[in-house]
Amino acid sequence: AQERYASLRGLPAESRCGTVTRLYMNAGLMADLPSIENSGAEGVGLFRTELQFLIRNQMPKRDELAKLYARVMDAAKGRPVAFRTLDIGSDKVLPYMKPQDEPNPAMGWRAIRVGLDKRGVLRMQLQALLRAARGRPLTVMFPFISEHEEFVTARNELLHQRDREAAMGHPVPETLRIGAMLETPSLAFAPKAFFESADFISIGGNDLKQFFFAADRENERVRRRYDTLNTSFLRFLRLIADRCAESNAQLSFCGEDAGRPIEAMVFASLGIGTLSMRPASIGPVKSLLRQVDLREVRAVVTAAMAEGVESVRPAVMGWLATLPE
Ligand code: PEP
Ligand code: MG
Repeated sequence: AQERYASLRGLPAESRCGTVTRLYMNAGLMADLPSIENSGAEGVGLFRTELQFLIRNQMPKRDELAKLYARVMDAAKGRPVAFRTLDIGSDKVLPYMKPQDEPNPAMGWRAIRVGLDKRGVLRMQLQALLRAARGRPLTVMFPFISEHEEFVTARNELLHQRDREAAMGHPVPETLRIGAMLETPSLAFAPKAFFESADFISIGGNDLKQFFFAADRENERVRRRYDTLNTSFLRFLRLIADRCAESNAQLSFCGEDAGRPIEAMVFASLGIGTLSMRPASIGPVKSLLRQVDLREVRAVVTAAMAEGVESVRPAVMGWLATLPE
């Protein structure tokens, strides 16, 4: 199988219907970057910047971070990298930040909430990213956005920093793509203006699923209790996909489920055009996507939903078994 996946490396994830799904990889440390070559990833769909903060024992300086981000962009060789600003709090606590004693850290002071309140840290990181780009295209996404206003504020901060860099005579990115991670159900119901203002939206499925089912992703007793292919969740994803399509916001999915071939295939059939996953998952996901017609997948999913099943998985598996090898 490994060899078969290697032979697919240079080929697109083009399904029988002609739809091409874009496959990206998730990363967080410099050591992840070499995988971009041998996985065949089109870019990095999620760069978890907090990991580089977590392995230090003091807050990194702006120039040091800029060098690090420049090396990440160099290693990606012109492929896009979506840098997610710090997602700390919750399960990720910086050793050099005062620990917060919160009863429910996953729903507490984390991610963009910290970024907007501790504006200096966010600014420093945005400046480092702008400098690292040295005129190259830059993609930034903000984690855990729960309402439109948070995105507006974060986005304006980035635009403001870009203008400030320009005023100081530094080169600014030739293109700047700004996206939001959709990880809380509330954002799916945000005003249309939100979908129109985001260049792209990336579903953080790990968190989104946790909050959708109210099932702690860290708790072994409940974390696998609800199937990702549960029809309630798929209806919800379909709503998000439809709202993004309506406003021309590019949609991707970057939680762990994007790396599971059956899930990936169903997501693609709902209109999620970009999937970002662990590098090792790209081969298996691409292999399956190339074997199927996504219109047929969608028809199977829709028919199963209409029957009132809890999960579409049995129907999808049954249909897959009928396909010629
Ligand atoms: C997610 O929540 O799905 C996600 C991609 O972010 P993280 O796993 O880092 O919370
Ligand atoms: Mg998340």
